[in-house]
Amino acid sequence: MSNEKNKGGRPQNGGRGGKNPAPKGNGDSGKKNPQNNRDKNKNAGGRDKNNGENRKDTYVYTLDGNLYINLTNKCSNGCSFCVRNERASYYGNYLWLRHGDPTAEKVIAAMNAMGDLSRFKEVVFCGFGEPTYKLAEMLVVADYAHSKGLSTRLNTNGQGNLINKRDIVPDLKGKIDLVNVSLNASSAEKYQPICRSMFGENGFAALVEFARLCKRNGVGCRFSVVDCVGEEEVAACKRVAEGVGVPLYVRKYITDS
Ligand code: SF4
Repeated sequence: MSNEKNKGGRPQNGGRGGKNPAPKGNGDSGKKNPQNNRDKNKNAGGRDKNNGENRKDTYVYTLDGNLYINLTNKCSNGCSFCVRNERASYYGNYLWLRHGDPTAEKVIAAMNAMGDLSRFKEVVFCGFGEPTYKLAEMLVVADYAHSKGLSTRLNTNGQGNLINKRDIVPDLKGKIDLVNVSLNASSAEKYQPICRSMFGENGFAALVEFARLCKRNGVGCRFSVVDCVGEEEVAACKRVAEGVGVPLYVRKYITDS
C-alpha cells in the first residue's frame, strides 16, 4: 500500500501508521544512494514481524466500509514515513506476507470468505507494498469486483510504468475506476529524500507522468497528499496537480492505526 498515515490511503505514515508524518522538505536524511535503497526497497520477504505467530497471510481486509486488497510486499520506494517500517499491522490487519504474494484466485477466495460483498463501497488495491508489481493479478481481481457491482480504486506510488518497463495505463482502463497517486511532495528534490525511490529522482517524474497518462486515457485519477506537509507545500502540490489536470485530495493525518 502506499500506506499513508491516513485512513484509506496507502499505508504510509503519511498514510500507514507511523508516528511521523511525511517530513517537510528534506525530511529523511535521504542519503541519495538509490543502489542502497534498492536493497531496502526489497521489502518483500526479509522481515517477519509476525513474530512466529501462526497467522494466515492477510490478502483482504476491511476499513471504513471498503474492502482492501494486499497483493504484495514489494515496493519501489522506501518511504521514511511508511507505516510498515515500524508496524506489523495496520488497523489490526497483519499485512506482511510470509507465504509469498497471493494469486488472483486466492484473493478472490478471501473476498468471498468475507460474506456478502454488496455491503462494501469500494475495492481498494492497497497493502504493505505497491500493487502495480502484481498488475495481472490486480486486473483479474478488479474484474471480479466489478462483476459483484463494486467500484475499484488503486492506491499507488505512480511508478508502475517504471516497475513494469512499459506503459500500463491502457491496461487500467475499464478495470480501475479511480487511480490515487500519492504525490507526497511538490518536486523531485523534495520527494526523493522522503520516498527514496529505487529509480532515483526519475521516480517523481514518472508518477507525474503516470497521472498525466491516466487523464489522457480517460482513467479516473487524482493525486493525494497528507495535510501535515504544511499549507505552503499543499499549495505547491495543488499547482502540480493543476498542471496535470487532475484533482488533489488532501488527506488528514491520522495519528493512530
Ligand atoms: S510507496 Fe511503498 S514504501 Fe512508500 S508508503 Fe507506500 S508502500 Fe510504503
